[in-house]
Amino acid sequence: MGSYECKNMAFSYWESKQWLSDRNLVVVGGGIVGLSAALRVRELHPNWKITVIERHPFGGGGSTRNAGFACFGSATELREDRITLGDKSALELVQKRWTGLQLLRKRLGDQALRYRESGSVELFLKGFEQHSAAPSSEELEDLNRWIAPVTGNNKTFKNIPSLHLHGMDSAAIEQAVSSPLEGCVDTGHMMYALQSEVHKAGIDLVHGCHVTGIQNGPQPRIRISETAAGGTWFETERLLLTTNAFTRELLDDLDVLPATNLVLVSEPLQTLLPQPTVHIDAGYVYARSIENRLLIGGGRHWGLDNPEELEARLLSTMRAIWPESKSVKIDQRWTGVLGIGKARLPIVKSVQSGIHVAVRLGGMGVAMGMQCGNQVAELVSET
Ligand SMILES: Cc1cc2nc3c(=O)[nH]c(=O)nc-3n(C[C@H](O)[C@H](O)[C@H](O)COP(=O)(O)OP(=O)(O)OC[C@H]3O[C@@H](n4cnc5c(N)ncnc54)[C@H](O)[C@@H]3O)c2cc1C
Repeated sequence: MGSYECKNMAFSYWESKQWLSDRNLVVVGGGIVGLSAALRVRELHPNWKITVIERHPFGGGGSTRNAGFACFGSATELREDRITLGDKSALELVQKRWTGLQLLRKRLGDQALRYRESGSVELFLKGFEQHSAAPSSEELEDLNRWIAPVTGNNKTFKNIPSLHLHGMDSAAIEQAVSSPLEGCVDTGHMMYALQSEVHKAGIDLVHGCHVTGIQNGPQPRIRISETAAGGTWFETERLLLTTNAFTRELLDDLDVLPATNLVLVSEPLQTLLPQPTVHIDAGYVYARSIENRLLIGGGRHWGLDNPEELEARLLSTMRAIWPESKSVKIDQRWTGVLGIGKARLPIVKSVQSGIHVAVRLGGMGVAMGMQCGNQVAELVSET
């Protein structure tokens, strides 16, 4: 049988009819926000036809590429939030992270998430250029008072002796601030469980299709293609963009930009115990254990364009903290894309008639994702 290429390849009659036409809602973006939103809309509207379109085989943004911190902000990160946003809005932001984590754990369950109550520690390292100064005891007290209405705990943060941090080099650590309330998840298990819920709920999740354009009219229109260009136009009653860092490819006037993060994972170490999650430099650098390996990532605030230089700096940070990592190599590395903007709060709103967005999750979308998904689902359901 011969083969030939057909210009402007169209979807088949069956593909269009089964997955793309006559939809009550199309969600663009199959990350944590898009899937959470689709699930919540399904609860509100059991009979709606809902399709989630994701162009990447797994997810090209943050949801399958993150570090799996179940976190609400380190002491210095929260200090920055309070300065930038003011106490009231910063507390709203922490509340979103806190609520999002509770929702995620409740919907998927700790077993499915492989949730670990690791606790977290923010480290201030000797001889390293620090992004922000270590908090004083008075500052920690003030922070604990401010955050208590959210966490329900008067000791969310406390200084601890670095001697108690097993596997870490206490001589390299100037100060350590711990929180017992943070944890971590297995990101792969989290997204697998979320996708399973989506399938169970009768929501169509289509991978490998790009949305290459949107238009508004009496009904929103979207152009869908198997490649990054061209495509076929479809109408939908409602459209939700959960495209995070990539949103400006479709809507160019929102304050959300892509920021790429590098993540490194070491070969297995011989004697590594499970570690608390580690925040460094106000959350710009993060590290944790995955089974008996170490993961470290971030560092975009160093402004290093050369990936080799960035990797070397992350590696030297890892080796300063965990002496045992000096004898192992990095055997896995990847990048993921964050959606950031001038403001730190997510954008959850209706932008045009029938078109809604929930984007700009920043560096804590695992925490906030389900909260934002639920919030935008209510908005979508009202229209
Ligand atoms: C390296 C890294 C580490 C992180 N670590 C943590 C952490 O430890 N804890 C934490 O809370 N958060 C962390 N984050 C942040 C978190 O992962 C994100 O905030 C969260 O995943 C955002 O979810 P989302 O659904 O909004 O977006 P995304 O997961 O980015 O999903 C958007 C999806 O839209 C798809 N898409 C975009 N445009 C189109 C289009 N035109 N057509 C079809 N599909 C499209 C993309 O392929 C993508 O899959 C990290 C992020 C990165 C990158």
